[in-house]
Amino acid sequence: MKLHEYQSKTIFSKYGIPIPKGRVAATADEAKQIAEELGGRVVIKSQVLVGGRGKAGGVKLAKDSAEAEQLATQILGMEIKGLPVRKVLVDEASAIDQEIYFAITDDRAAKKPVMIASAAGGIDIEEVAAKTPEKIIKVHIDPLLGLREYQARDVAVAIDLPREYWKDFVKIAMGLWEVYKNSDATLAEINPLVITKDKKMIALDGKMMIDDNALFRQPNLTELRDTDEDAPSEIEARKYGLSFIKLDGNIGCMVNGAGLAMTSMDVIKLFGGEPANFLDVGGGASSEKVAAAMRIILTDPSVKAILFNIFGGITRCDEVARGILAAMEEVKPKVPMVVRLVGTNAEEGRRLLENANMITAETLADAAKKSVEAAKKGS
Ligand code: GDP
Ligand code: MN
Repeated sequence: MKLHEYQSKTIFSKYGIPIPKGRVAATADEAKQIAEELGGRVVIKSQVLVGGRGKAGGVKLAKDSAEAEQLATQILGMEIKGLPVRKVLVDEASAIDQEIYFAITDDRAAKKPVMIASAAGGIDIEEVAAKTPEKIIKVHIDPLLGLREYQARDVAVAIDLPREYWKDFVKIAMGLWEVYKNSDATLAEINPLVITKDKKMIALDGKMMIDDNALFRQPNLTELRDTDEDAPSEIEARKYGLSFIKLDGNIGCMVNGAGLAMTSMDVIKLFGGEPANFLDVGGGASSEKVAAAMRIILTDPSVKAILFNIFGGITRCDEVARGILAAMEEVKPKVPMVVRLVGTNAEEGRRLLENANMITAETLADAAKKSVEAAKKGS
């Protein structure tokens, strides 16, 4: 789950990381009023869950509250990378001397958190990473010991930060580590972390990603979820406890178990098809859950066939078959459906589906091949 800039910076600030004064606004009128409160010179920042807002024209400086209102009107009418701007953050403008990149994120390969820093922060950080990777400093953090102050100082030295800022930087780094750890974040990023002309170090931008698997113990963060920006099918799936990710292909997949779901997608691709989604209905999937999953798959108009690959263990195949039948009653699917049922109560499951006009398959390869053929015919 991604957090908005204003949400991330509010969290940063609770951990002692300096942020600009500011508030979020949903109308140009509000933006004007906030600008007045802040003394006129402000920056108007679109709040959408994508990067590169600056380059897309979604971050603009205003010299007074009248211009703030005008720019807010303009930015609130924008779409950035397909996302409509519904809110803007109105922050006191800073006079910038230097832009630093600083983040803590997961390094999956190293199985450790890692600090990433660069003296060349700002909107071109991707280009810096691609063209001059030596300008990006990485220091791993031992998850049991946590971030040590000397490591933060090492980073300050490595990015040639003047000595007078070391203390501030260490404090910000330690704060960001606490943010990352206590929020179950997979990313806590400040880009840019600026040094202002009056020699202050401030987090001008903020970005956080939270591990979805930890949300059960992060009720305060879960509340911050902005469902406006999720695919409606993903929101619906979450309601039923289904792991669902929409993809670009045309073969809908309903599988129990994440590993089996990944394998099914691979085998579909092996036979020249493209999956329309990842879906793990989970262990012991009830018929209601299966019905919900089928409804969700079928709301995608590009789906031309559905592959059911069920390996019955805790999940009982007869229960899944009942779910499929219930869903068919309700949604009356027009696309061909290929089903492979093996394991617990598979025979009963197959018998239940005998008259359901489905294509049956014995093996996963067979099922994948048949669904690729069916999808080709259908499109
Ligand atoms: P992003 O493009 O989505 O990463 O949005 P940022 O919040 O990082 O803003 C993009 C760029 O706008 C920053 O790198 C700065 O160069 C500039 N910017 C943002 N806020 C201010 C500000 O208060 N004053 C000045 N002078 N520039 C700013
Ligand atoms: Mn940024």
